[in-house]
Amino acid sequence: MTITELDRQFVINTYKRFPIEIVSGHGSLAYDRNGREYIDLTSGIGVTSFGYTDGAWCRAVTEQVNRLQHTSNLYYTEPCARLAEALCARTGMNKVFFSNSGAEANECAIKAARAYAAKNKGAEYFTVATLENSFHGRTLTTLAATGQAKFHEKFQPLTPGFISIPANDFDAFVRTAEKENLATVMIECVQGEGGVNVLEKDYVQKLAEYAAAHGILLIVDEVQTGNGRTGKLYAYMHYDISPDIVSTAKGLAGGLPLGATLFSEKTADALGAGDHGSTFGGNPVCCAAALSVLERLDDAFLASVREKGEKINASLQGQNGIKSVSGMGMMIGVETEKPAAEIVSECLARGVLCLTAHEKVRLLPALNIPDDLFDKALDVLIKACGGRKTE
Ligand code: PLP
Repeated sequence: MTITELDRQFVINTYKRFPIEIVSGHGSLAYDRNGREYIDLTSGIGVTSFGYTDGAWCRAVTEQVNRLQHTSNLYYTEPCARLAEALCARTGMNKVFFSNSGAEANECAIKAARAYAAKNKGAEYFTVATLENSFHGRTLTTLAATGQAKFHEKFQPLTPGFISIPANDFDAFVRTAEKENLATVMIECVQGEGGVNVLEKDYVQKLAEYAAAHGILLIVDEVQTGNGRTGKLYAYMHYDISPDIVSTAKGLAGGLPLGATLFSEKTADALGAGDHGSTFGGNPVCCAAALSVLERLDDAFLASVREKGEKINASLQGQNGIKSVSGMGMMIGVETEKPAAEIVSECLARGVLCLTAHEKVRLLPALNIPDDLFDKALDVLIKACGGRKTE
């Protein structure tokens, strides 16, 4: 049996995989079973921020693997403590809870917000407002937080106490806050799975201000936007706001499973001993990987991500078959005349890996993708969309 056949027979059918088997990768190049090379503009959906098998990342991981791979959270370990310290130093937050995925990071954020509201406002303040088109994960609670009905079908009843409000509509938020007993409002500054929709700065600032004035916690989901993806360490930093809780995962450890929930001074004690936990959360190998990623996301590197993002935007805007380009930094959505899935298939056939998000083609390349590879891949994408304007 081929690997494809084995997978189809034995792995549950929740993923619509592309018909290639990736066997190795280096930097922004991936190789399939037949030795065919692909330029990867997906980075494992925003995970492998420094590409495949990056030297510094591999060294950090193998050094830690050879020392200690796991101990459980019953004991202190250096990578976990140092990563928490580094995340707090870089964000001004006060404490961190480590988990294994974005959904878990959000689950922790929601639990903490409810615990905080129950203690400070009363047990009836449990409602969580999230935005239409948001995506916060696949557990029953984070699905309830996800403002897209298509993900809710089949799984009712979801966790109660969630309400979905339109994005970029401050009045709608105020009306909801006046009517409901809100514990928290949770946003993605750039909705990733929802179609690479950038929230308006004015809206986010007003929402943050109102929430702070009315004792409603602000959770920012930085699972996809975090860890340098948008050209700042976290996307909320573009908005000049101070969230009460920040969740992140994906690119945090550059390719190993790690989620983190960051708490401000106000919320740092919302969860106490025994309130939450995870067997693998804060695993030393994942934390060592994350430390190596974080130390490379310095100001100069983040500026290069912003510059690359602007360059990509400028090369795609106005080309044949491209209706619009959205996004921030290296998180890019391309609205195309042809169906996005068709463009992605065409790119795959021509050796370029891309993603979709709703009706758009989505690009999440490694943050250090070399310019020449990127230009080559963009050429393929532009051809698939309809060709350069001058052609
Ligand atoms: N939140 C956001 C904004 C995401 O984009 C995702 C995944 O795409 C998640 C949460 C869920 O993360 P995970 O798949 O690691 O559970």
